Amino acid sequence: MDSTIECQCGNKQYGYYSGATVVYICFKCGKFACFGGSKQLQEIFMTDTNVILDLIKEGTLKRIDNLNTSDYK
Ligand SMILES: [Zn+2]
Repeated sequence: MDSTIECQCGNKQYGYYSGATVVYICFKCGKFACFGGSKQLQEIFMTDTNVILDLIKEGTLKRIDNLNTSDYK
């Protein structure tokens, strides 16, 4: 699984996961991609991108490369 993917804005989207749900988010333009989550969850993310940031902050969503690199800060 890639820890980052290219964003349309030219920046990188950073990958996070929680269980079977994988979310890539660009901290520059706020664009995100969600895989494996329910439609309901994706709609929540689309309505308010801050929910993703909150989930990252509280540790529910974890960096994909958490195991071999230090946490993204
Ligand atoms: Zn972007």
